Amino acid sequence: MFDNDDVELLRQASAKLCEGFAALPGFDVAVPGAERMADVLSLTAERLQNNYPYFHPLYAGQMLKPPHPVARLADALAMQINPNNHALDGGRATSAMEKEAVAEIAAMFGWREFVGHLCSGGTMANLEALWVAGQRGAGARGAGKTILASEQAHYTHKRISAVLQLSCESVAVDACGRMGLNALEERLARGDVGTVVATMGTTATGSVDPLPEILRLREKYGFRVHADAAYGGYFALAGNLGDAARAAFALIAEVDSIVVDPHKHGLQPYGCGCVLFRDPAVGQLYKHDSPYTYFSSAELHLGEISLECSRAGAAAAALWATQRLLPLAKDGEFARGLERGREAALELYRRVSHSEKFVAAFAPELDIVVFMPRAATASEASVHSRRIFAAAAERGLHLAIAELPARFWEATAGAMRLDRETMTCLRSVLMKPEHLDWIARIWERLEAATDAVADGAGKPR
Ligand SMILES: *Cc1c(COP(=O)(O)O)cnc(C)c1O
Repeated sequence: MFDNDDVELLRQASAKLCEGFAALPGFDVAVPGAERMADVLSLTAERLQNNYPYFHPLYAGQMLKPPHPVARLADALAMQINPNNHALDGGRATSAMEKEAVAEIAAMFGWREFVGHLCSGGTMANLEALWVAGQRGAGARGAGKTILASEQAHYTHKRISAVLQLSCESVAVDACGRMGLNALEERLARGDVGTVVATMGTTATGSVDPLPEILRLREKYGFRVHADAAYGGYFALAGNLGDAARAAFALIAEVDSIVVDPHKHGLQPYGCGCVLFRDPAVGQLYKHDSPYTYFSSAELHLGEISLECSRAGAAAAALWATQRLLPLAKDGEFARGLERGREAALELYRRVSHSEKFVAAFAPELDIVVFMPRAATASEASVHSRRIFAAAAERGLHLAIAELPARFWEATAGAMRLDRETMTCLRSVLMKPEHLDWIARIWERLEAATDAVADGAGKPR
């Protein structure tokens, strides 16, 4: 939350910004009085109270994480100019900042030569990647354009493919939520595949598709590989991944395109996704002749390499400032934050696995834990999951629920009867560094909520 120190930092930076425009003659702006604005802002604040406390460590549910203070301040600062990164005419400084910040993200994945840009989010970024895939797709053998993504890939790929009129098929996952290699190879052998989407951290469980093996299959069958690292991309910097995830991230430079969301794990406000292509020539596909935008410079205008037109330059200023403060370096402060979230997830997984009350699915590959309450059947556990979700919220702990294949519990279910194909389970995304310090308190509330539900369930009706 903004405090006096933040306001003072913003005031100082604003004064600095104004120095750049000091030569202009003054002019009057019609603004309503401070009193009326205060009234409206107070009403706005009141309305905004109707939210889960996303910024607090006891919010351990969905993928929500507060932007870094420096990102919020840089965003507010840039908002006074409200630059538009579509063209250099609309956002000179922020276009340069975007190019620098995006180059740093590409370097994190090992790319020096590439073409890429920011966009409104992972959906738009994936749309551009699949749009390019549709034109470039058709691997070495020049055959089809079908896109393959795992059953656990983000649902956006199916919808995007429909928009692009490309066929998109699902590949079965293994018991850990990763793309199944046998299923993939079987489908590849039938031909017609242009692109395989490797999800580097699925949205539901943070599972990382087996990129080394997918790349090996690319040698044999020839297809494009798109890495959807919208959620997991920054874990390329984490030093505490398991062997499989580490091996996958180590080869990410070999793919054709990458999507990563700075507004997920990159500490940015919403409205900041990023798409990168290994082959800079992809830029030509975006070619268009605008009669009115690109006059000020022969330099690259970002609108010449992106599908969206108007875009917030403030998002680039926020990202640039954040990466200046917290460089994207292995062993750096930013990487440490990711590692702490992962440690928190491993600790929660450890507690869940050792508890009589729960059954964990597989060990987390990133920082997401999925588990269910112990019960006689999957059906019963599903009902209890929903009750625990609500009982935890009453105790100030906010989790998420997910509908996942019951197969994910195959190895751990023991005597529990898996009487359903899918089951409703509890899911916790531990993406804030503070989560690590709060695990004991999270656990306490989770156990209390679970006991309350068990007591309720035990009572005669
Ligand atoms: C979140 C997510 C998306 C969609 O991104 P938005 O920023 O929500 O549009 C796509 N793929 C994966 C793997 C994601 O986690």
